[in-house]
Amino acid sequence: MYPRVVIDEVKLYHNAKYLVTQAERYGVSVYAVTKVFCATPRLAQVLVDAGVSGLADSRIQNIKKMRSIHAEKMYMRVAMPSEVDDVVRYADVSLHSELETIRRIDAAAQRQDRRHRIVVMFDLGDLREGFLPEALHSVMPQILAHSHIRVEGIGVNLTCYGGVIPTRENLTVLTELAQEIERTYGQRLTLISGGASSSLYLLLDGQLPTGINHLRIGEGIVLGTEAAFDTHIEGTYDDAFVLEAEIIELKRKGSVPIGTIGNDAFGGTPVFEDKGEMVRAILAIGRQDVDFEGLTPIDEDVEILGASSDHMLMDVTHCERQLRVGDVLRFKMRYSALLKVFTSEYVEKVYATPLKRL
Ligand SMILES: *Cc1c(COP(=O)(O)O)cnc(C)c1O
Repeated sequence: MYPRVVIDEVKLYHNAKYLVTQAERYGVSVYAVTKVFCATPRLAQVLVDAGVSGLADSRIQNIKKMRSIHAEKMYMRVAMPSEVDDVVRYADVSLHSELETIRRIDAAAQRQDRRHRIVVMFDLGDLREGFLPEALHSVMPQILAHSHIRVEGIGVNLTCYGGVIPTRENLTVLTELAQEIERTYGQRLTLISGGASSSLYLLLDGQLPTGINHLRIGEGIVLGTEAAFDTHIEGTYDDAFVLEAEIIELKRKGSVPIGTIGNDAFGGTPVFEDKGEMVRAILAIGRQDVDFEGLTPIDEDVEILGASSDHMLMDVTHCERQLRVGDVLRFKMRYSALLKVFTSEYVEKVYATPLKRL
């Protein structure tokens, strides 16, 4: 059945192992971020086998889905106050930036007769989650006062919202905050979490500030991209996940629609360049399944024109292959595309070269 994602577990394993090995050289442990493949347990297990120190996800349902896997589970989205019981039950450690939620986590841990570990997030400029550094001394004593919580460390998230790139400077601020906490409160911090795949370029250049000992890596493992500058990481595969879709119509037509142009189905007013007649293919995949702007055709001589909910239009005029209706086109995916194909129930997931269990 098409459309489908073909998953090469050997390549995924390789990518994880490669990045874990690089990180180890600098004393950095890696948690694999599983949200982009909806925490499919089979794939999470591949990453554990490849040597990641833990699994991290931003949906509690996903953490729960992985409960039979033997690995440390980190819940990464700051918790909703309404889900603290599940957070304590299913996650070993979770990230936080609200005192009220931390108070509720403490109460939930008390009810379950456990101690829950947390990482306190600081906002170093990206304006997503995190306490501001200047709030350190007003919040830390309150956090440390909870008896059913252990503050395992501190962390930062960058690039995801504001696009702020991790640098030696901003990550050094995180290490200084850690020292300040240890000095002032005598609280040993074992985990200084310096971000996501966008921090990989510093790691791979040997430029990650000393003191950062943890990264949460999704994109780098799954797609082999170093996210800050959107470049391929040498030594990794960028095609562990490949999307395949089937041609349902193939015709020579014009390149400019005929008639009065109003809004398209998505509220935009389309603009068309007149390229004369072209061979147009319609693929049975659409915006309900994929972010088409995040696709790169593996056939280099074809071009994506656009998509509606269930159809993707392509210019295949210059395709070397002699295409026919029923043929399949293949695509590499960027993060946005991968996220959506995994979430779409209409896209089948198949395994190309199953990993031999050693
Ligand atoms: C998604 C996420 C990550 C991983 O991001 P990648 O760019 O895929 O490595 C790390 N930390 C948090 C808090 C996240 O939400």
